[in-house]
Amino acid sequence: MHCFLERGFMCMTDEHIGTSCPNDERINDNGLIIADTHCDTIATLLGTRMNIFSNGLHLDIERMRKYKGYVQFFAACVNPYYGREYAVKHVIKAIDLFFNQAEIYKDFMELCREPGEIDRALKQKKVAAILAVEGGDVLQGELPVLRLLYRLGIRCMTLTWNYRNEIADGILDNETGGGLTPFGRSVVKEMNRLGMIVDLSHVSERGFWDVMELSEAPVILSHSNARRLCSHVRNATDDQLAAGKENGGVVCVNFCPDFLNDSGKAGIADIIKHIEYLAGLIGIEHVGVGSDFDGIGRLPEGMRGVQDVGRIFDELAKLNYSQEDMEKIAHKNVLGIIEKVCCQKPQ
Ligand SMILES: [Zn+2]
Repeated sequence: MHCFLERGFMCMTDEHIGTSCPNDERINDNGLIIADTHCDTIATLLGTRMNIFSNGLHLDIERMRKYKGYVQFFAACVNPYYGREYAVKHVIKAIDLFFNQAEIYKDFMELCREPGEIDRALKQKKVAAILAVEGGDVLQGELPVLRLLYRLGIRCMTLTWNYRNEIADGILDNETGGGLTPFGRSVVKEMNRLGMIVDLSHVSERGFWDVMELSEAPVILSHSNARRLCSHVRNATDDQLAAGKENGGVVCVNFCPDFLNDSGKAGIADIIKHIEYLAGLIGIEHVGVGSDFDGIGRLPEGMRGVQDVGRIFDELAKLNYSQEDMEKIAHKNVLGIIEKVCCQKPQ
């Protein structure tokens, strides 16, 4: 979900359906499988008659399937607009929508809970879907909710959205900026035990550092950029990025123009700048892609939606990135995290 509420929830109508990518349009995927760690598409579909297969949003199955392979994290996000008491309802409705759509389009997309299922889905030319939750508000202070989310197939959770919940403060709680609460500490430990990825996008800086000390597993920043290049608070400082490297984590570049460039105007070149900066600072092994599709109101120039993710790699190829390095950024680093967190969990 995008930082600003007024742009985070767009009013979509049926007139948007099928306007984005004609069937015959070829996607130059550079032979790469893509793994994108964040989109808000399922929450955006809620309350509409649109579907996940073909729509006018930023992302749909039809366009993802034009790539060699696609691994997409789908976030069921809390929606502060409806108030905290609505957090569980909203997330459950989004997860329910996902399962209903996954059943209808089961020939084209599959929910994956571990690497073997991802491999199988990709071999069958299906989109490999990873279910995530954005906003630990959904737990409402109860670990059993976390465990049930795991049983439902959720494999990644953003601890907070922008505001305080029972786990920690969010990044917009500037005056207090509190870290993990005792409950938050038990959540991180339980996520480690279950094998669920801890996502630190949106959390307060103090919360970030508390998790760095506590987590026994690698973490991700599923949709955050480098603050050195763009000063938005949603972006990570150099110290945070270095700690993410130390932790074995991955930082996935968000396409939101406000997070790419202080001017608020951005193009694909700005996505490349953040990738290059991150790769230079913490190494290519710690960089990925976290589009935030359908969570952001505007996209960078030249980026219409998922059909243009391949353009990022066209640009990297022009900069003489090897195929091996592009594979790391495109999917291998993220799949490595899934492997480590979900399969080698601490006992
Ligand atoms: Zn978000």
